[in-house]
Amino acid sequence: MQYLVVIALITVVYFFFIKKRPITNTTSKKSTQKKTKPQSNDMVECSTCGIYCEVDDSILSNGKYYCSSECLDEAV
Ligand SMILES: [Zn+2]
Repeated sequence: MQYLVVIALITVVYFFFIKKRPITNTTSKKSTQKKTKPQSNDMVECSTCGIYCEVDDSILSNGKYYCSSECLDEAV
């Protein structure tokens, strides 16, 4: 019976240390990824019509954002 208690203790300690490490690793990785990753869904205002659209969908020209190529043509 002492056998089983020792094995149980070892597994408990083993899992305790193994579980502890990945959690701290993933949380630190996630927090750094959030900080370093640019905000892709940031909203920017169209310089022509004033509509807010996502940075990914907008057109950047001369430091100004435009919601569509039509607004870009109007600005130029
Ligand atoms: Zn526009």
